[in-house]
Amino acid sequence: MIDSYRHKGLRRQLIDELKEKGITDKAVLDAFDKVPRHFFLDSSFMNQAYTNQAFRIGAEQTISHPFTVAFQTSLLELQRGHKVLEIGTGSGFQTSILCEIGVRVVSIERQKELFINAKPKIFNLGYTPNLFFGDGFKGKASYAPYDSILVTCGAPFIPQDLKEQLKVGGKLVIPVGEGKMQIMTRLIKLENGDFETETYGDFSFVPMLEKTAK
Ligand code: SAH
Repeated sequence: MIDSYRHKGLRRQLIDELKEKGITDKAVLDAFDKVPRHFFLDSSFMNQAYTNQAFRIGAEQTISHPFTVAFQTSLLELQRGHKVLEIGTGSGFQTSILCEIGVRVVSIERQKELFINAKPKIFNLGYTPNLFFGDGFKGKASYAPYDSILVTCGAPFIPQDLKEQLKVGGKLVIPVGEGKMQIMTRLIKLENGDFETETYGDFSFVPMLEKTAK
């Protein structure tokens, strides 16, 4: 796939749009400049890759809106060297944004087709996250504890395993709610094991589902 000057120009425009919508984290904006979003979409959507839209990526799933990716990533307040768990690899775009920021990424996807498609795209860009086919409700205990956990599907509740796999001071960003809309929620783990909870408005995600699918 080709990353042309035109694509790079479109990315700059998208970054201006993200800034207008309130994204200020420089590491996040720089990552949007580097990662070619069009690599993660079907060729039929190529021309709209840098508009603020969600697209189908197969297995009835969607790649999140660029603003949603930028907003969730900003809420993690990442620093280089952090270890991050992502639930819902999907297209691999969000995974690549995290890798570009310079954090260690562990990502889980429950749809076999998406897991298989995302892997070569991410690795061809030179990123080396640990990718797993599995059920994100359980997290990935063997790599825990995490500085941040990012859930990119709408969760019916906050999974206990994810809370346990977070470091003290770590952040869990998770859209919570059944049905069409979810409330963007950020939990910060306190020293006594409790959580401070903040909410950041309504978003719409595909549902977080139990178990894996072929
Ligand atoms: N981060 C993705 C967003 C994809 S949409 C991107 O940038 O493209 C959300 C994804 O979460 C879907 O691919 C869906 O299959 C996946 N998902 C849903 N429930 C899951 C679960 N329990 N464990 C892992 N992945 C899950």
